[in-house]
Amino acid sequence: MGLFHCPLGAVYYEDDDCIDCGLCVANTAEEKVAASKKIREYMKSHAAPSSNVSKIAVCGKGGSGKTTTVTLLTFALKEAGYKPIVLDADESNPGLARMLGISREPKAIAELFTNPEDAEKTASGPLAGRDKFTMDDIPAEYVSGSDGIRFMVVGKIIDPFQGCGCGLAEAAREVVEKLAVKDGEVLVLDMEAGVESFGRGVERHADTILIVVEPSLESIIVAERISQMALGMGIGRV
Ligand code: SF4
Repeated sequence: MGLFHCPLGAVYYEDDDCIDCGLCVANTAEEKVAASKKIREYMKSHAAPSSNVSKIAVCGKGGSGKTTTVTLLTFALKEAGYKPIVLDADESNPGLARMLGISREPKAIAELFTNPEDAEKTASGPLAGRDKFTMDDIPAEYVSGSDGIRFMVVGKIIDPFQGCGCGLAEAAREVVEKLAVKDGEVLVLDMEAGVESFGRGVERHADTILIVVEPSLESIIVAERISQMALGMGIGRV
């Protein structure tokens, strides 16, 4: 097969894992399209049963289009009858609320886990230590809404000497893990760029990782790393 890698992992044509899709021996564009279709159908019919999609983390290299993807995905979910809850977990990007058509920036949800008056920043906010919570437990000033879309922001780094982003990452992780979504609700997370959030385990309780890739080598390398880290966390839908 030379440099060709079989998508099903067969080492050679007619190996045990080969389904005779014909991709590695296709010569024309039509043959390649037909072979790809065969592979997709095979993968679909052999996919492991998976839970519903309820927590989607949108990840990727900086500038790949995560925020645009989150915006379009949110509108599509709403259009399909779901109740999207968007969490802006990017500490620096300021544009998501505006793109969603939301004019009021909500208060930073990190305050619900860490009391801003507490100089030590210990976990002492009203949601700190809770095993589970729902959107009903989150005070109105921490949620903005527009046309069926609810929007929350973890917090932003805006001041010099504000400190590191650990508290914000911790709050994002708490929301992903402990927010109990009700029927029809889907949590969509706009993650910070790169792999740091995976290093912190923020996405661990997401059920779906959506990696956005732009056509550059760096973006593809980051996507591969994210994919490996997500699978390593036990997230099966990447
Ligand atoms: S025919 Fe398809 S399944 Fe078989 S080795 Fe080639 S690419 Fe893989």
